[in-house]
Amino acid sequence: MSTRLLLLEDDPAIARTVAYALERDGLQVTHCLLVQDAREQMQRQPFDLLVLDVGLPDGCGLDLLRDVRHGQAAAALRQRQATPVLMLSARGEELDRVLGLELGADDYLAKPFSPRELAARIKALLRRAAMPAPAAAAPTPFVDDETGQRITLHGQALPLTRREYRLLSHLLRGAGRIHARDALLAAAWGDDSESTDRTVDTHIKTLRAKLREVDAGREYISTHRGMGYCLDV
Ligand code: CA
Repeated sequence: MSTRLLLLEDDPAIARTVAYALERDGLQVTHCLLVQDAREQMQRQPFDLLVLDVGLPDGCGLDLLRDVRHGQAAAALRQRQATPVLMLSARGEELDRVLGLELGADDYLAKPFSPRELAARIKALLRRAAMPAPAAAAPTPFVDDETGQRITLHGQALPLTRREYRLLSHLLRGAGRIHARDALLAAAWGDDSESTDRTVDTHIKTLRAKLREVDAGREYISTHRGMGYCLDV
């Protein structure tokens, strides 16, 4: 099945050269002059890629981009939320460019552009879209509720003191990294001069005991001699 592309562009001369270049590359191009036409076309069929002009007689291509990136609106338009989108805009419209990228455009071309460049960018976007999504990061067994100052392990709330909470929260945020004792001291005790490295060691010990209460099968905090502590999830 060939790749379907929607081109929203109100300048017929630009649309013609673009459509010609893309069709020559084997893409199936549906051209619309108005935002409303584009919406109707989208409701009819999902597209593999959208090329949207910004300034159109009946509206703005950025609004359409916003809708595609919004779950419910995208579903109403029958488009995948992750559909690659390339924005076209008049030269020097820096604001459009920034706005477009903020709204989730994948690429941007300023007019005038060469149809060959557009075709090359579109191919790159399609290649990227065809790549399998990177495996989702393994879910961490910890959940840190920073507002409530509570941490759960495997869904079970840990009975932590304020210091222990700060210590564990800091370790979680930098999971996989080794934290020096004085960095942990600064994070959990602030400027309390009464505390020493020994204080950190003591708290890590009680923290480990509390983690073991919930999950006896794993040691989450490892000691790196002469360097500090590391939390592995
Ligand atoms: Ca235009």
